[in-house]
Amino acid sequence: MTKQDSKGVHSHEITGPVALTSRHLLGIEGMSPIEIRSLLDRGHMFADNPHDGVSDALKGKTIINLFYENSTRTRVSFELAAKRLGGSVLNISVAGSSVKKGETLLDTATTLNAMHPDILVIRHNCSGAALLLSQHVDAAVINAGDGRHEHPTQALLDALTIRRRIGRIEGLKIAICGDIANSRVARSNIHLLGTLGAELQLVCPVTLLPADIGNMGVSVYTDFEAGIEGCDIVMMLRLQTERMAGTETPSQREYFNLFGLDSGKLMRAAPKALVMHPGPMNRGVEIDSATADDVEKSLIRTQVEMGVAARMACLEALVTRQT
Ligand code: ASP
Repeated sequence: MTKQDSKGVHSHEITGPVALTSRHLLGIEGMSPIEIRSLLDRGHMFADNPHDGVSDALKGKTIINLFYENSTRTRVSFELAAKRLGGSVLNISVAGSSVKKGETLLDTATTLNAMHPDILVIRHNCSGAALLLSQHVDAAVINAGDGRHEHPTQALLDALTIRRRIGRIEGLKIAICGDIANSRVARSNIHLLGTLGAELQLVCPVTLLPADIGNMGVSVYTDFEAGIEGCDIVMMLRLQTERMAGTETPSQREYFNLFGLDSGKLMRAAPKALVMHPGPMNRGVEIDSATADDVEKSLIRTQVEMGVAARMACLEALVTRQT
């Protein structure tokens, strides 16, 4: 049941902590619509009450952030989320750890596991790294992005952002645009938004289409303006050059001309279309500054804000399952 405040923000009835069927949060694929909706409802509650003290679900618990790739938003928001729930947080920077001395992921994991953390949050450049870790530790594992595979908490915060602004996901026409092939954000969003009943359109150059596109239940467009036509949400993605061989796109200027979002192209979307981007943005490559900073149309800052609330719901759910 949703209600709307005077600023138009949608919120849901207060719900209790969610208990997930899985001990870990490795991906959106395989999660039931009920689990996803419950996490979003709980995320709404945390977003309505963003300060410490709403829940002390993580009191006495230890959370380790193990990030093998760079991160600003995700790492900080996991730390904030855990602290707001009363948890103790340790951040392992790979640059300053024994990984630099040649230690393998599994050796690092079993070393950390021996110190009995309750939750390990991992980001790694290899698809499947979070699953591998989960098979060798006692702690619950949260995937904070593994290679091109999944980034489940990003999809949850994106859905929370949309539901707070529009009140629903079902029936929305959503374009996911840009470097789909290299994007774990796209993959998690395809699973989540599709499960909750959105109509999805992927928009990208042929060279940035994933090989398994046929199984994803989405429409595909290689013409940007045709792809965003009439869409309620236009979700832009960064060109992830760190995962490219170098031949996937023409020059960045040509990429922007063909696949970058500006206010002129946005006119092809629905009249009240909203713009999203998971960050970090490359301004002038996939999106121009005027569109990214348009306070009426851009949800990009709200996405960052919702990151903390969505991650509070996930952390709480995993410790609820442990008790
Ligand atoms: N921050 C997101 C990720 O880690 C998106 C990006 O890097 O472009 O996947």
